[in-house]
Amino acid sequence: MNMLNINWKPDNKSSTPLYRQIADYIKEKIGNGEWTVGSKLPVQRDLSKIFGVNRSTVIEALDELKADGLIEGRGKKGTVIINNTWSLMASLPSQNWEHYIKSGIQQPNLHTIQIINKLEYRDNIIRLGTGELSPELFPKEMMKKIFANISNKINSLGYERPKGSLYLRKILSQYVKKFHINTSPSSILIVSGSLQALQLISMSILKPGSTVLVEKPSYIKSLHVFESSGINLRGISMDKDGIRLNEILRNLDNRTSLLYTIPTFHNPTGTVMSQHKRDNLLNLCMQERLPVIEDDAYRELWLDETPPDALKSKDRNGIVLYMGTLSKSLAAGLRIGWIIGPESVIERLGDVKMQTDYGASSLSQYMAAEWIESGLYEIYLESLRKNLKSRRRAALKTLEKHFSDIASWNIPAGGFYIWLKLKSKINMEKLFYSCCKNGILINPGYIYDFNTNYNIRISYSYASMYDLQFGLKKLSKIIKDL
Ligand code: PMP
Repeated sequence: MNMLNINWKPDNKSSTPLYRQIADYIKEKIGNGEWTVGSKLPVQRDLSKIFGVNRSTVIEALDELKADGLIEGRGKKGTVIINNTWSLMASLPSQNWEHYIKSGIQQPNLHTIQIINKLEYRDNIIRLGTGELSPELFPKEMMKKIFANISNKINSLGYERPKGSLYLRKILSQYVKKFHINTSPSSILIVSGSLQALQLISMSILKPGSTVLVEKPSYIKSLHVFESSGINLRGISMDKDGIRLNEILRNLDNRTSLLYTIPTFHNPTGTVMSQHKRDNLLNLCMQERLPVIEDDAYRELWLDETPPDALKSKDRNGIVLYMGTLSKSLAAGLRIGWIIGPESVIERLGDVKMQTDYGASSLSQYMAAEWIESGLYEIYLESLRKNLKSRRRAALKTLEKHFSDIASWNIPAGGFYIWLKLKSKINMEKLFYSCCKNGILINPGYIYDFNTNYNIRISYSYASMYDLQFGLKKLSKIIKDL
């Protein structure tokens, strides 16, 4: 049943009684068709917290709505909307969207992720798991320059070509030379974030019923991109230098369609695949004719030394589909990523992309091009690395101080994440909810894994330095008190 998300409070200063304001608010939501029949209201205790009123005020408002025939108490199932104001007035049957909501190809998010996605925007919550750059790190002054520069260059903002702006693709084909990737603009597709590239791949070039091999754990397990197209994920375990090659071999069968890997600053473990393993992996994939998606979202975020070259840089057979994005290194909201691969694949993906959204935002494409072409991106990345390095230092210092007795962890060489492994087998869901109640948002490891685990993905990229340290200290206390 669809639980309603309420982000509103009655006005304490108004002369209208609080219960009246609440009843009117709910009636308006129902009357506008925003809250449909079958939707569930939070329990009274939660409603009184959300509205900031006594429980008796909530009860008074709900009683009125019950008397009007709009809602019904269903014991332990809570209070449900049973009628629409208009359908009541017109004596029409009301539309029940519930079974539509449960239909459709795309699977819903994991419940924990739905909660994370909502709580991220609550005031005063400390986000210890968010895989995004902090607003503090946003290069505001440089962004102003970019806006000024592009304002002189834009002559129209129409649809772009199926593969995206040729201007941006030319710039990207030069930019990726930095990673020893040689490609021409015709082999690049601009996507609305690299997640879309995965969506396009799953819809356009993979067969339902096939299997995609992925690291265990993996970022991709936290979504249902492949599963919603009827594709199964099979987890392959990792060691300290990346995915286990023997295990890939053991898991190959005639249903295996490709391998999805994050070799550089892996999400969520931070692991970097060694050069040696990269070479062996590429050989193995060529021998087995196993195409690879190389997700390189974090490459620019090295903190100690540049990481080994991308798999793509040595791919002479066109078996690697290489994904890049500006989301992790500059601004996730630009929604600009790219995928590089054989032209035939890129054209197929571009054709499907045209049917999906007619292309990524042209404005964002101009901005991306300007960032890279002007050289500002490179200058900004240097300072970003310094900032991330001090954040990493602060996070590790705080962990030393408060987690030494309860957890172990890796020291990431880049990216955003510390993969914290708890020493005792506590109930991780309980920990997640307990953190939420205490104003701390974490990404528990189970959302990324195939089996139970006792990890937490800590990100040092998002929370302010103060919140990061304060939040980690609080988290250690919550774990110890659980
Ligand atoms: N790949 C990886 C490994 C990620 O961590 C993320 C973001 N969490 C994405 C892809 C998606 O990024 P975007 O769609 O914003 O480019």
